[in-house]
Amino acid sequence: MTVHRLHLGEPTLALARRQLLAIAQELHTRGWVANHDGNVTLRLAGEHLLATPTALSKRVLTESDLIVLDAKDRVLQGGRKPFSELKLHRAVYAARPDVRAVVHTHAPNATALAVAGVAVEPRMLAESVVSLGAEIPLLPYAFPQSAEQLAQLKTAALAVDALTLGNHGVLAWGDDLEQAFLRAELVEHLAAIQLRALQLGRVTTLPNADLARLLDARKKAGLGPQARNKG
Ligand SMILES: [Zn+2]
Repeated sequence: MTVHRLHLGEPTLALARRQLLAIAQELHTRGWVANHDGNVTLRLAGEHLLATPTALSKRVLTESDLIVLDAKDRVLQGGRKPFSELKLHRAVYAARPDVRAVVHTHAPNATALAVAGVAVEPRMLAESVVSLGAEIPLLPYAFPQSAEQLAQLKTAALAVDALTLGNHGVLAWGDDLEQAFLRAELVEHLAAIQLRALQLGRVTTLPNADLARLLDARKKAGLGPQARNKG
């Protein structure tokens, strides 16, 4: 697989900082994080990452708080420290050379389902099947950043672009920050719909024949890791 990665000079890194900050702040505005929760990374050249730092609310984050990490997660720029969940992001990047951005939230509806042991169901709506495929896996609870959890994540990341972590939250990734954010947003939106449908007593999914057609449309649109690996 050919990987096109930007070689970021200063002006482009400045743009990336602005974009990453806007998305990190949006996590707080949406109510998807509390305290110091949530994190966002962007893959730069040479496995370097631009990342939100640990121990700072997304509400008060500024561009100068963002950190640049080298391939060994040493801080190259910025006076703050990396967050502990960085291993989750690195697991996704290791599994998926095409991925350039990862977003992690504790969005309440998706996290409520993850606490209840219920996976978010994309097959409720046609659009979400095209966008995210037929499954948004719920990884079973494992000790945070344990070898077991990272192994599960790497395997799942080969097949999907978003998932939920048991008793934890949402992890989504994409070609860029916007796509990773939109996928995290879609997971939370679906979870809100699913919870309301559960309150009404029933969650129905699309007929199997239609799912096959939608998954075909997804593949033709070049969406999903399977479509990419074939290309
Ligand atoms: Zn978390």
